[in-house]
Amino acid sequence: MTENTISHALKDIRQRITRAAHKAHRAETDISLVAVSKFHPRDSVEAALQAGQRLFGENRVQEAASKFPPLRELWPDLKLHLIGGLQTNKAVEACRLADVIESLDRPSLSEALDKASQKVGHLPELLIQVNTGNEPQKFGIPLQEADIFIENNLKRFGSHVKGLMAIPPQHEDPQSHFRTLTALSRRHGLTVLSMGMSADFEEAIAEGATLVRVGSAIFGTRPPFSTDKTL
Ligand SMILES: *Cc1c(COP(=O)(O)O)cnc(C)c1O
Repeated sequence: MTENTISHALKDIRQRITRAAHKAHRAETDISLVAVSKFHPRDSVEAALQAGQRLFGENRVQEAASKFPPLRELWPDLKLHLIGGLQTNKAVEACRLADVIESLDRPSLSEALDKASQKVGHLPELLIQVNTGNEPQKFGIPLQEADIFIENNLKRFGSHVKGLMAIPPQHEDPQSHFRTLTALSRRHGLTVLSMGMSADFEEAIAEGATLVRVGSAIFGTRPPFSTDKTL
């Protein structure tokens, strides 16, 4: 998409966020927009930066590593969220690159991030991804294991653990999944809730989202993409 189109799309999404927030009697400043730039070139990210966007999401470490370090030199207040399934052998690179890792979803990854952060000297903020639909092919800690996993990570990483993230099953009404995630976060005193994408971010805001991850509605279509385990 052209620079102009991206800037218009961003403006439109920001307005929709504001409207959804007010409808839910929430302050629009409680909700941050993560612009998901996966599959889109560095120029598209720059266009979004020019339009005032600072928060970005990428789902693959390698792609993020090739796009973002040069942009950070020019835009030091840029923030990068890793939102995709993360392999343990990418933990070091993830700690180097990310401000936030939204996809902590299994004990072996906690272990790997703990070691990696000691090596790198930096631990990103962490969100725990919950598989609210208990779909076998999806990333995320299964719902019935979530409480203990959250507690263990709070013990290990303390206040670096900020909140929860979820991707509802594709062909279900997302509302009950958003509610489940909100209830789980409250139970653990966590304040960050990453839920809602291009198709359903307004509903997510109604249910308490503080981060919405919007890709195609900002940057346009991309090659077919699955959030399933395809690593
Ligand atoms: C790609 C992706 C998004 C953005 O999806 P859109 O439907 O393009 O808005 C959000 N979250 C995750 C985890 C993704 O992989």
